[in-house]
Amino acid sequence: MEDFHKDCSIPARSSKGHRRGALSALRRRNAAGLLNHLRTNGPCTRVEFAHAAALDTKTVTNLVNVLLKERLIISDGLADSSGGRPAERLTLNPNGAYAVGVDLGARSLRTVIIGLTGQVIAMTENKLQTPSDSEKMLTQITDDIRATIKQANLRSRRRLVGIGFASPGFLDREAGVALEAVHIRGWKNVPVVEHLSKAFGRRVILEEATRAMALGELWFGQGRQEKNFVCLDLGFGIGAGIVSNGKLHYGVSETGGEIGHTTVKRHGLRCRCGKRGCLETVASGEAIGRLANRSSASAVAKAARTGDRTAKRVIREAGTYLGIAAANLINLLNPGLLVLNGGLCRMGDLLLEPFTQSLNRHALNRSLAAARIELSALGNRAGAMGAATLALRSCFEYETAISIQRSAKDR
Ligand SMILES: [Zn+2]
Repeated sequence: MEDFHKDCSIPARSSKGHRRGALSALRRRNAAGLLNHLRTNGPCTRVEFAHAAALDTKTVTNLVNVLLKERLIISDGLADSSGGRPAERLTLNPNGAYAVGVDLGARSLRTVIIGLTGQVIAMTENKLQTPSDSEKMLTQITDDIRATIKQANLRSRRRLVGIGFASPGFLDREAGVALEAVHIRGWKNVPVVEHLSKAFGRRVILEEATRAMALGELWFGQGRQEKNFVCLDLGFGIGAGIVSNGKLHYGVSETGGEIGHTTVKRHGLRCRCGKRGCLETVASGEAIGRLANRSSASAVAKAARTGDRTAKRVIREAGTYLGIAAANLINLLNPGLLVLNGGLCRMGDLLLEPFTQSLNRHALNRSLAAARIELSALGNRAGAMGAATLALRSCFEYETAISIQRSAKDR
């Protein structure tokens, strides 16, 4: 799918003193600017965008004509006018492009198709059938993507720009390989990108699961208005997706955000990672199930609701430790928002009450006052939506902003 990057369907003007390439790059950057403006600010008129981007109206009109032709934007009716001719408002075309997002969890597999405005068109959710066998997992993943595309009944499959894949654990993103995931036994050295790009003939992008979830929040969730926030994924395992100045934080070897493996008990139980006393040994979904002698964290929650004292104690302890971890994050990073997501959030007050008490006890008042604490509005779709965003965002980047039509025709 290399031509997807290089290609630009807009004929470059060659006028005095400018190289064709330079002008075309400028124009593509402007196109990306308009698409991103519509994405973050909603519909606007040509004049409003010209003003916001400090461009002359003729340049904007040319740009708009191209994007209308490419069907990446559409008319959104007429703006209110105080005298004079009312101006046409422009908006993103929800059907201008589509992307697939896959979220591989320790127990489940979620697949979504989203449109250019982030709307979920189709979603499938299935139990992960063979966590010990990567070949069979890849087959299930491929089958689920096919089923979801079919379910989406897209107006034009040619506008499917790519596939984003959210994988837990450690990755070689450049090679497109999932290296290992402590909670999925068979998920080792899996060439996800090669496999899926062969199967679907689309660009495939691999990202760590919690980071993908944070990207979903940044583009389509509570993170839209906040450049510095943390997404805390409380599930079978525990992770943090950190967004700093509007960008995902990776760290030098791309292992940043492993809050689940920070030490909370000096002589605690041995963790799957090999160390002792990690947060995951006392507060992950897996630990909650094990510590309360139940089959799963949701079974523990059910028991707690009927008054089981052990179940209540284990959840209370977990909430307290999660509150300490969140306080540490807030003290360390001073985020404006902490988004909570993951299956454990479904425990509601059983977990969130001790969590909040502990957070208030341990976080610095000044830092805590600056941070809103919210449950994700995207819910269990956040990871898959974030994965899809990995592919969809190429439409909003200036290299590829207006090349969809052309590259889609090639497919
Ligand atoms: Zn650990």
